[in-house]
Amino acid sequence: MPTLSIVVPIYNEAEGIVLLFEKLREVLSAHEYEIIAVNDGSRDNSWDELLKIAASDTHIKLINFKRNYGQTAALNAGIQAANGDVIVMIDSDLENDPADIPKLLEKLNEGYDVVSGWRKSRWEKQMLTRKLPSLMANKLISSVSGVHLHDYGCTLKVYKKEVVKDVKLYGEMHRFIPVFCKWQGGKITELPVNYAPRKYGKSNYGIFRTYKVLLDLLLIKFLDKYMHRPIHFFGGAGILSFIVMFLATALAVYFKVTGQKDFVQTPLPTIAAMFFLVGVLMVLLGILSEMLMRIYYESQDAFPFKIKEKVNF
Ligand code: UDP
Ligand code: MG
Repeated sequence: MPTLSIVVPIYNEAEGIVLLFEKLREVLSAHEYEIIAVNDGSRDNSWDELLKIAASDTHIKLINFKRNYGQTAALNAGIQAANGDVIVMIDSDLENDPADIPKLLEKLNEGYDVVSGWRKSRWEKQMLTRKLPSLMANKLISSVSGVHLHDYGCTLKVYKKEVVKDVKLYGEMHRFIPVFCKWQGGKITELPVNYAPRKYGKSNYGIFRTYKVLLDLLLIKFLDKYMHRPIHFFGGAGILSFIVMFLATALAVYFKVTGQKDFVQTPLPTIAAMFFLVGVLMVLLGILSEMLMRIYYESQDAFPFKIKEKVNF
């Protein structure tokens, strides 16, 4: 049986965590497991509660951040510390139900690398203000990333160690972990899970997370297509600019030689000069990005590909 690492991010959840750990222990009793709880700079007494819980149970490992770094950082720290073959991530506010874990693991055993929870019944009472935006966001992320999931925002997901250990998380990118797993060659699916609204504390995100998600998505699209060849993106934009420059120049010259308009009578020379500059800058940016990409890989002796297996080496 694979060993499990349960990763739990915790920010101001003092009231709920005793119950959470009770439920987790009950569900996990048949497994070999560790629980890695990351206290993300809570301002309440979450940390004291955690120390109490961990004192009597060596399954529970604690990481205490110096300050609040955000859910992505907390999950990242948990992933890095995990020793299990399978990593389970779950929210600490009891919106996710630990009782769903066995079901997700069973699905994983069918040959998947990631099984994502899908809180089918979330926001049922706030159709217009929450459910619809969430539906649209998940549709958009699915179609841009090519990884079709109904609930990117659900933390409760299980991952095989191989596809998630090397994933690099920055900013608020935890929502896109399945996409990064796909980039590592992972096979991804989803399962409906239970959902219970928060009883204690309050949510750390509002509807205004949307614009951040859009920007992150843009970045993901860029990284997916051009991470290993940024010159094609920036150089492409540069070439487009040069084309506009040539067209503007040609038109200005045409007006001049046919005697219709002098150079100073149209904005065309200015446009040509502007696009020339943009074109040069774009190409230079492309070269710079290529150098950065090389530094990124070569500084860690990494390669921009993952080998599945080798034979007769
Ligand atoms: N969380 C965290 N650091 C933060 C914000 C949230 O570790 O800065 C944790 C929080 O304790 C919870 C999970 O991340 O376990 C999800 O947060 P929340 O419930 O506020 O988000 P929502 O469920 O509303 O999307
Ligand atoms: Mg929550």
